[in-house]
Amino acid sequence: MKDLQASAAELYDGSFRPMLVGGTWRGAQSGREMQAINPADGTCLATVPRGDAADVDAAVQAARAAFEGPWARFTPYERQALLLRIAERFEVEWDTLCLSDTLDMGMPIQRTLANQRRVLGMLRFYAGQAVSIHGQTIPNSFPGDIYSSTVREPVGVVGAIIPWNAPIAGSVWKIVPALATGCTMVLKPSEEASLTVLMIARIMQEAGLPDGVLNIVTGTGAEAGAALAEHPGVDKIVFTGSTATGQAIARAATGTLKRVSLELGGKSPVIVCRDADIDKAVPVAAMAVFANSGQICIAGSRLFVAREIHGEFVRRVADYAAALKIGPGIAADTDIGPIISARQAERIEGYLSAGPAEGAEVVTGGGRATGAGLEGGHYFQPTIFGGVTDDMRVAREEIFGPVISAMPFDTLDEVVARANATPYGLAAGVFSTHLGTAHKLAHRLKAGSVWVNMYHAIDPAVPFGGMKMSGYGREGGSEHVEEYLDTKAIWINA
Ligand code: NAD
Repeated sequence: MKDLQASAAELYDGSFRPMLVGGTWRGAQSGREMQAINPADGTCLATVPRGDAADVDAAVQAARAAFEGPWARFTPYERQALLLRIAERFEVEWDTLCLSDTLDMGMPIQRTLANQRRVLGMLRFYAGQAVSIHGQTIPNSFPGDIYSSTVREPVGVVGAIIPWNAPIAGSVWKIVPALATGCTMVLKPSEEASLTVLMIARIMQEAGLPDGVLNIVTGTGAEAGAALAEHPGVDKIVFTGSTATGQAIARAATGTLKRVSLELGGKSPVIVCRDADIDKAVPVAAMAVFANSGQICIAGSRLFVAREIHGEFVRRVADYAAALKIGPGIAADTDIGPIISARQAERIEGYLSAGPAEGAEVVTGGGRATGAGLEGGHYFQPTIFGGVTDDMRVAREEIFGPVISAMPFDTLDEVVARANATPYGLAAGVFSTHLGTAHKLAHRLKAGSVWVNMYHAIDPAVPFGGMKMSGYGREGGSEHVEEYLDTKAIWINA
């Protein structure tokens, strides 16, 4: 990539970026706009429409027209070819997409660039799925020539609502199964990070996506988000975000009994057994939380370490954390970028005060990071709390910031019970060189994904999602495609 600062200035100059409804790039019907702020320095990158219920309604109508019109005539092989064309365009535009993401939501550029394998994999994996969807012929108990079979049909118009913490992967993982199955979509990005999602829609349109198949309505959760969740013309809602918003969306969806999939928050445990390979475990346990400044749903924020090695292990994670480079995401050597907004920064500060107030001790970090190059943004030191007990707020609540709560444990039974004693069930990590221990823990932990001697692995072909209050439904793999399909039984009296 050429000089990043020069490219950034060319990409966003503060001007208006319209949203996509029915193939047309336009402003909100109300004429209202909102600012897209660069979290690294607080500057305004662009303005985007502040869409509301009227815009959502127009987008849903466009999505319905496309679903019943041109898109319905696409064969699975044409949908597959389109997805593969989009993948090619993504490959060409990858650096620009990553630059946009880094400017819009702060993720370090080294991390956005590294996501290419996964995002292109999504497009290519679902291109394969598009031509693999089929029903069954099923023997039945009727005498005579009565035949029964099933066909799989796209569920219809899907409403997608996503958070700000991973706009590229987050939006692509919503959009591509819709395209593979023949659904159409109205997607509302987070008001904190709309720009890269708009860029993605442009790339898909240029690759030949028919008008109305994908519509992007930018706006707030309270206005555009709530209108989408309630809209009677939407057949299914797919949502990623906080558990509280997921509950509100599930309630809103009951009015029309639309189907809902929810990918929600977490308070994931990482368990380091006394037989762990410590050299391998230290950087992984650190980055299980500090990657993306802790703004990841799967953050392994409860670090349980066998008492025999607890002191040494936590000290080594602290040393690792203290060496991480904090700075604007656009700097090639930045490990920890800014927090998305003042509101989120205040939440994190609240937990940094709550920990010591409840008796936790600061092992490293503990406050904001300031200094040259950090002006205008909200930066935090990677923080580890020791002396944490299970009842403290820092051990129970999702912080969504770079904060680890470290706790010793004595037995496997004990650590399983404590790790599972949370309303969440999104992910878990286990470090052990003993095969039996690894298996035992992996099976007994109540989480949608368990990683052994690794963390963070998410793949297009492997199901991902939550248990308990981390949500329901799965993204990834053939299970993801099921989320976008209905089954119809066909009976024939021959
Ligand atoms: P959020 O719930 O505040 O917002 C998510 C989206 O919902 C945004 O687009 C927002 O505008 C919209 N929204 C807000 N209120 C709404 C309403 N009443 N009706 C409809 N839409 C509404 O979450 P966030 O702060 O953007 O993201 C952080 C949260 O997302 C964390 O809890 C994190 O764990 C979770 N998350 C989960 C996953 C996962 O895959 N499980 C992935 C990323 C983030």
